[in-house]
Amino acid sequence: MPWKILRSCFALPVGALCTLMALATVTLLPTRVRAQSGEVETFQRDSKQAIDETYTEHIRKYTTAPALNSPLTDYLPASSTVPTPAKVLGDVAGAPDVLPYAEDVYRYFRLLAAASPRVRVFTIGHSEEGREMIAVAVADAALLDHAKENSSRLAQLGDPRSLKLDDSKAQALVDRSFPIYYITGTIHSPETGAPTALMELAYRLAVDNAPYVQYIRTHLITLITPVAEVDGRDRMVDVYKWHKAHPGENWPHLVYWGHYVGHDNNRDAMAMTLELSKNVLNTYLEWHAQVLHDLHESVPFLYDNTVGDGPYNSWIDPILTNEWSMIASDNMARMQAFGMPGAFTHGNFDTWSPGYLMFMAAFHNGISRLYETFGNGGADTEKRVLSPDEYARTWYKPNPPYPTVVWSQRDNNNYEQTALLSSLSYFAHNSKLFLNNFYLKSKRSVEKPANSGPAAYVLAQDARFLNRQIQLLKVLALQHVEIQRLTQAATVALPPPPHKEGEEPKPETPPPPTSQTLPAGSFVIRMDQPFSRIADALLDRQYWSPEDPQKEPYDDTGWSFGDLFNAKVSRVTDSHILAAPMSPVPDLTQVTPGDAGAGPFYVVNNSAQVSLASLVYALRGAADVSICDGNFESDGQKFAAGSLMIGGVEASKLTSLLKQYDLTAVSIAGRPAVKLHAAEAPRIAFMHTWLGTQSEGWWRMAFDKLHVPFAYINTQTVSKESDLRAKYDVIVFAPVGYGSGQRIVDGLPMWGNALPWQTTSLTPNLGKLDSTEDIRPGLGEAGVAHLKDFVQQGGLLIAAEDTAEFAIEEGLAPGVFVAPRKEARVVGSVLNSVVVNGKHPLAYGYDGAVPLYSADGMAFAVSNLTLNYHLLTAKDYKRPTGRGSADDEDIPQGRAFETAPPLPAPKAWEATPLNEEQQRNNPYLIPAEYRPQVILRYAEMKDLLLSGLLANGDSVAEHPAVVVAHFGKGDVVLFANNPLYRGETIGSYALVFNAILNFGHLK
Ligand SMILES: [Zn+2]
Repeated sequence: MPWKILRSCFALPVGALCTLMALATVTLLPTRVRAQSGEVETFQRDSKQAIDETYTEHIRKYTTAPALNSPLTDYLPASSTVPTPAKVLGDVAGAPDVLPYAEDVYRYFRLLAAASPRVRVFTIGHSEEGREMIAVAVADAALLDHAKENSSRLAQLGDPRSLKLDDSKAQALVDRSFPIYYITGTIHSPETGAPTALMELAYRLAVDNAPYVQYIRTHLITLITPVAEVDGRDRMVDVYKWHKAHPGENWPHLVYWGHYVGHDNNRDAMAMTLELSKNVLNTYLEWHAQVLHDLHESVPFLYDNTVGDGPYNSWIDPILTNEWSMIASDNMARMQAFGMPGAFTHGNFDTWSPGYLMFMAAFHNGISRLYETFGNGGADTEKRVLSPDEYARTWYKPNPPYPTVVWSQRDNNNYEQTALLSSLSYFAHNSKLFLNNFYLKSKRSVEKPANSGPAAYVLAQDARFLNRQIQLLKVLALQHVEIQRLTQAATVALPPPPHKEGEEPKPETPPPPTSQTLPAGSFVIRMDQPFSRIADALLDRQYWSPEDPQKEPYDDTGWSFGDLFNAKVSRVTDSHILAAPMSPVPDLTQVTPGDAGAGPFYVVNNSAQVSLASLVYALRGAADVSICDGNFESDGQKFAAGSLMIGGVEASKLTSLLKQYDLTAVSIAGRPAVKLHAAEAPRIAFMHTWLGTQSEGWWRMAFDKLHVPFAYINTQTVSKESDLRAKYDVIVFAPVGYGSGQRIVDGLPMWGNALPWQTTSLTPNLGKLDSTEDIRPGLGEAGVAHLKDFVQQGGLLIAAEDTAEFAIEEGLAPGVFVAPRKEARVVGSVLNSVVVNGKHPLAYGYDGAVPLYSADGMAFAVSNLTLNYHLLTAKDYKRPTGRGSADDEDIPQGRAFETAPPLPAPKAWEATPLNEEQQRNNPYLIPAEYRPQVILRYAEMKDLLLSGLLANGDSVAEHPAVVVAHFGKGDVVLFANNPLYRGETIGSYALVFNAILNFGHLK
């Protein structure tokens, strides 16, 4: 989680207080549950079991204040056979200066498994860079031995269709089953404490004979993935080692965490693009687990942010929101009883977006949980100075953190383990309740059509959408959602359209349709399946009220995948759809026909598929590929401008590529009579800064997954490379995410020591993706000049969001400006745009509306001048005092009347035309052929918002969103939106690849 200032309750409007008080009422529930079970857990250790004296002594030595430990973790039980973490670490878990690589963490778990029948280790997959990911199961041997049978029982509870929704059958299974509690550590690489805490936790669960630990291990399986982001962990350990080897110096920030992204690896639970997401979800579902509990570090000292703050996600089962409160309430009560300061569960984290790793459980009928503990970003013991909002006592933080604290990694490990152990205990004692809830949530997911609805989502069979629909279906498949296909057309009733306030139905307009016919071949996502909730949450639209008491949304407010994938998705409420003839789609790679026919020419119609560029690059040197610059017909079939004409290709090679890239081609006998240009597969350089690599990482991942090759360069390379044009045709400068153009030019301040990012024997995991002896220098003035030369000499620069702003500031985009945002509020919303210039190659394959992801409501304005100078328009002019009415003209007396020329009335996306007077001898006037071309503009206000938050959108509505600027012989493509974002914006990918494929043809 990012470091965010916690909101004090004083700032909460009354409405929010009520919500939170309602939650507080709910938290009475667990007390009742406990009272019924009649058990009071004391967490006493077994006095007959010997303790490991040395280990215990070190725990106490490294804990910086007695209150920062608990009776659960202030000792370690001894074992003559089972090794403690010291065996691998050389010291205790959380010891100062000790930060193990993933490999060492795994070595310990394997030693543990070899020594104890209560521990088993499994490989669950690998990272992008090939590093292993593991899961460790810890429980009584009897439970582990019967894990398979238990799993098949949990599978039935998780898919109640197998029980015909019979509660008595479910009850019998619940009685015989035990739950799985899955814990994941250090997904965020600079949050370093979890691996050692989890090593020691596993040891305790395997060895400790305290009655409460025995109860846990005989009533549930604890499943542990100690390192979720394994590539980033190894780099973080390298950085830490460098820091220890250079005392008194600054050390480099973690430039790369995972192979592609940093902090956003915890935003991938929707699109499922990263290996760690797939590996964790597959493990979670293979075990049919009930909880996914993810460990983070940011705020002091332990924030169980599962309860957090509203608004809560709309698509989760109400049972779940109460489970969050039940568990957290007991958990916080325990932490208060142990006297540990700074434990709380209400805070500013809103529980709206489902992108977080933990949310995989929330949407697969389990329980998502998350801890933020305090961390120092390494294993140094440090004095930490807190801010008043962190140490203030509030109603939800009765025992707040200290204003200043000496904090150690051991303190962190004490908190993580104490909270986890008491949570595991609570869960074990209430295991039957939670198993029953697991069944109920699964059953209610299956019953969705009969309750809240909808009945299904349908992706209508339509060749223009198929390629992107397949990408969306692949995401749903990764989410383990079942997909069907209509074998016959089906007609369903449509709900009446929503009535808009103040809108009277016009008598001349025909009544809205009351039914919809879905053709055979349409894809159906039935809502009567166990994982209907994730499909519903992804495919529905979101609305974040501008009046919501939560004024600082934690992450994106909208994500509707049907829009972002531009995939034509219908929400069907008529349950007749469920009775329509349909069959499962077992393999999404078999959906496109593949076989393109005999040739000799083939056309791939352009419908803004995500993978046209993949095909062009794959056919480089193996075929003659052209791009058609107009619409045309051949053999009675219609093709759109931008379609690919392929000749001289081996049919089998083409067929296999079409299949690989979910494309369809049509065989034609002769070359069509349409203007063509060669599809050149230009040489691409991908430029990153050393400030941050996450936003570009999402772009880089998109290019990699689509097999579009590029040279990976950085701003420092560009500052030294005077002839970029000789090497590259296209430079992609993806968003940096750190704002200003000045930072891109300046880099980090140059005082202090150099900050290397290189592969050395001390830092073997750094410098692989890219390296530098010092990450501080930025692009520099020389780099700016080289970039300008590159474009001037005919190169294409692609930039978005802050890098578009940078290009504008540096004069690379004459006539384009960032529109002042004024009061606009957009937080990761899906906004609608309209194609302005459908004939421009950038718009090939698009028509009508194009949904775009907007992070913050950025939009452009264009001018025929290089100055951002406001020219008077009809809208601005107000007549002076005189004769007649406001709409009449004043008439001077004693002379013939002369009508003034009308003032121009440009639209928000247009440049204001200049009259002769304004053009005369005006050095700032851009020659016609160099004026910017607006390709997409945002929709008018009433159609602008598709999903999420939008308020005061005047500065966004109708303003340019995608613009091609011209500089010298080259072009600069500017995006106000982020077209390649988190694997979610498949619908706008083709804008970027259109620019690349039509390099040299963008004027
Ligand atoms: Zn985190």
